[in-house]
Amino acid sequence: MKILLTNDDGIHAPGIAVLEAIAREFSDDIWICAPDEEQSGMGHALTLTRPVRLRKHGERRFSVTGTPTDAVTMGMRKVIDGKPDLILSGVNRGANLGDDVTYSGTVSAAIEGALAGVRSIALSQVTTREGEAEADTFAAARAWGTRVIAPLLDTPLPRRTLVNVNFPALPADAVRGIRAVRQGFHDYARGTVVEGRDPRGFRYFWFGLTDIEHTLDHGTDLEAVSEGFVSVTPLQLDLTHHASLGNLAERYAP
Ligand code: MN
Repeated sequence: MKILLTNDDGIHAPGIAVLEAIAREFSDDIWICAPDEEQSGMGHALTLTRPVRLRKHGERRFSVTGTPTDAVTMGMRKVIDGKPDLILSGVNRGANLGDDVTYSGTVSAAIEGALAGVRSIALSQVTTREGEAEADTFAAARAWGTRVIAPLLDTPLPRRTLVNVNFPALPADAVRGIRAVRQGFHDYARGTVVEGRDPRGFRYFWFGLTDIEHTLDHGTDLEAVSEGFVSVTPLQLDLTHHASLGNLAERYAP
């Protein structure tokens, strides 16, 4: 089984080493193609206004000067000759839960894989606070990764679907199990905007991810992780709100 790994935190991120160890439980045919620098929050961005450079770091190990989507595209078009059997994106440092998935470079790399018809899984490790040292940030992912992925290898997944996995911020033996759950939603108030002045005196604004409120609806990824479970959520790329389609069609009827 040929597996392509990527990670929106970049080729040197600790999470991609965690992911490689997990992937090696399933195959020796592992290929890595990841952005050369952190691309968190880039969503499904595709680089169009500048060239993308491909760099070789070792046997089957490459980086691109672009987005997570660029990395998956380059992985399939220029690194591997053809499509892999599986794309694993992560393990991201930080959660990708609820409606964060559309901002997520980690999830979007898996979206790119799903669009290409490749079985694709996004994996994220929830952290208590991203920039602060923790005993073993990826403990839950390391211990539970193979158990989560194994059933996903032969579960039928329709085209244009992918799987989003989040590991709770807990020591491995405190994780309570795995739950298949739907995507939850944050309340609207979005994060923080920090304002300051740069060394030349110009104002700047900087978005942060703290203070995001959410209601823990039953059966959601947010609830599962908050209760100490690994969340597994199948996602689809059809964003159409089918229930509204009939009404709208009537409004535009000739
Ligand atoms: Mn990231």
